[in-house]
Amino acid sequence: MNNNRKIYIADDELNLRRGIKQFLEKDGYLVKDFEDGETLLKAFKEDEADIVILDVMMPGLDGYTVCQELRKISQVPVIITTAKDTEEDYSLGLAAGSDDYITKPFSPKMLAMKIEMFIRRLDYEREYAERDQMTGLYNKFNGMKYIEGKIRQMIAENNAIIANRNDKKCNRESDKDNPKLARGALFVMDIDNFKPLNDTLGHPVGDTAIIAVADSLTKLFRSTDILFRYGGDEFIAFAVDIVDNNFVTKKAEEIGKAVRKSYTDGEKTCKISASVGIAYFPEHAQTYQQLLKVADKALYKAKENGKDGYFIYED
Ligand code: GH3
Ligand code: MG
Repeated sequence: MNNNRKIYIADDELNLRRGIKQFLEKDGYLVKDFEDGETLLKAFKEDEADIVILDVMMPGLDGYTVCQELRKISQVPVIITTAKDTEEDYSLGLAAGSDDYITKPFSPKMLAMKIEMFIRRLDYEREYAERDQMTGLYNKFNGMKYIEGKIRQMIAENNAIIANRNDKKCNRESDKDNPKLARGALFVMDIDNFKPLNDTLGHPVGDTAIIAVADSLTKLFRSTDILFRYGGDEFIAFAVDIVDNNFVTKKAEEIGKAVRKSYTDGEKTCKISASVGIAYFPEHAQTYQQLLKVADKALYKAKENGKDGYFIYED
């Protein structure tokens, strides 16, 4: 819990800051304590903290000034601690850009609870920024980042396997029990006839359909696969640990079955389905961008072939 969360405290009272440090370290935080604001600022510029706790009355820069300086470079949550408890002090803290205030004397437990609330909010914001708001899937940027990371890992694994095979050949050993190269399949999926659905039944129904497709795809792919919304009515999945191409064709058929659906308002009916383009790593391409390009060509073929089907890229 709280692993790697960094908290910086500046307070000129040694016993107080050390007491807080010990308490928070027991909760799993990484805590650095500073006797004045200048040293905290210097440390923060070199290595940012997740939360900063500042005493108001310190030699050199006071807590408000340190907070103002921090605000020039960071949105880090800042909690001000002070013995003064007047309306004016609160307003000075607010004007300096602090996020919360705790009046001395306070229990370390009280401070720890405030910190936990900030951490919870930070986690939520990070998680939220990673995801497409409508479907909750990864957004285009993070989907790409995770697939690129996975591909790097697979390339390293494959290089090790190839090096090992070469070694064995040199030693004239049998290579029948050599592990197989890591393979993946990139699925680019586009909903068919989505515009007519929007135009006939309205955008809210279109939104419902996109969310339903996202939910179905989430159920179809494994947690180790990477699934995201590329944008509009297009989704991408990178399925890993592909040992059998039948798995891929079966998955493509399952996608078709899950997306094929009719929507009606009682009078008019619209049908949607999915076209899927597929490319294999490492056979068809070895980078995400190249895989996307060839899988897109395959998707185009699937559309050309009359939609509601899949096409596997051919060189
Ligand atoms: P095709 O069968 O060739 O795939 O064509 P299509 O009608 O599905 O249309 P196309 O894929 O070219 O365009 C997708 C449309 O989806 C364009 C846009 O108006 C609509 N769209 C994009 N994002 C959203 C969204 O978040 N909600 C809704 N309701 N519609 C969206
Ligand atoms: Mg479409």
